Amino acid sequence: MQKIIAHLQIGDILYVKRIGSRSIRVSVSARKGVRVSLPFWVTYGKAQQFVETNLDKILRVLERQMQSGAAQKGLYSAEELLDIRRRAKEYLPARLAYWAGILNEKISSSASGSASSDRPFDYSRVFIKNNRTNWGSCSAKRNINLNMHLVDLPGELSDFVIIHELCHLVHRNHGKEFHKLVNSFCGGREKELSASLRKYSHLLQRIP
Ligand SMILES: [Zn+2]
Repeated sequence: MQKIIAHLQIGDILYVKRIGSRSIRVSVSARKGVRVSLPFWVTYGKAQQFVETNLDKILRVLERQMQSGAAQKGLYSAEELLDIRRRAKEYLPARLAYWAGILNEKISSSASGSASSDRPFDYSRVFIKNNRTNWGSCSAKRNINLNMHLVDLPGELSDFVIIHELCHLVHRNHGKEFHKLVNSFCGGREKELSASLRKYSHLLQRIP
């Protein structure tokens, strides 16, 4: 006989009545969560009370298990993420501003005067993100989002992502003209740099 009862702090707890069980026992694992085994003659209510009485201890063990589980899977710890975010905020917005300046300059020196804007690479705001899905993105409001994990890539690859996103300010798609523009700013190495970038996707898999 068993029953799953939700707990406010722990989440679902599986209570199992076992033949031969003579006392209430709590087992905690990162994978299976919290399980309570109890003798047949103990009510589920009593077992819940037992959990409440030992709540601090259970939460402590659960947290420790989760942390070591995360470390085993190679996931970033909370401290590591804080450190990455700190470094990202220090470096990426400044680097983006730097490249926007360079690209504006290059365009204005090569344009024949028919450009729709003098400074087509000016963006609105920059946001530093922590996500698994992309290294960067560019919104219709001309905001640029940069993945904070870019700071752990070789410099030429984080620069490449920044250039890619800046080029979306001019072409909002991945069409021919877009790639031509990106290529003009990275010495014709777009394909090569894209391939190198894919080798670093494992960094994004480490986000818990
Ligand atoms: Zn893109």
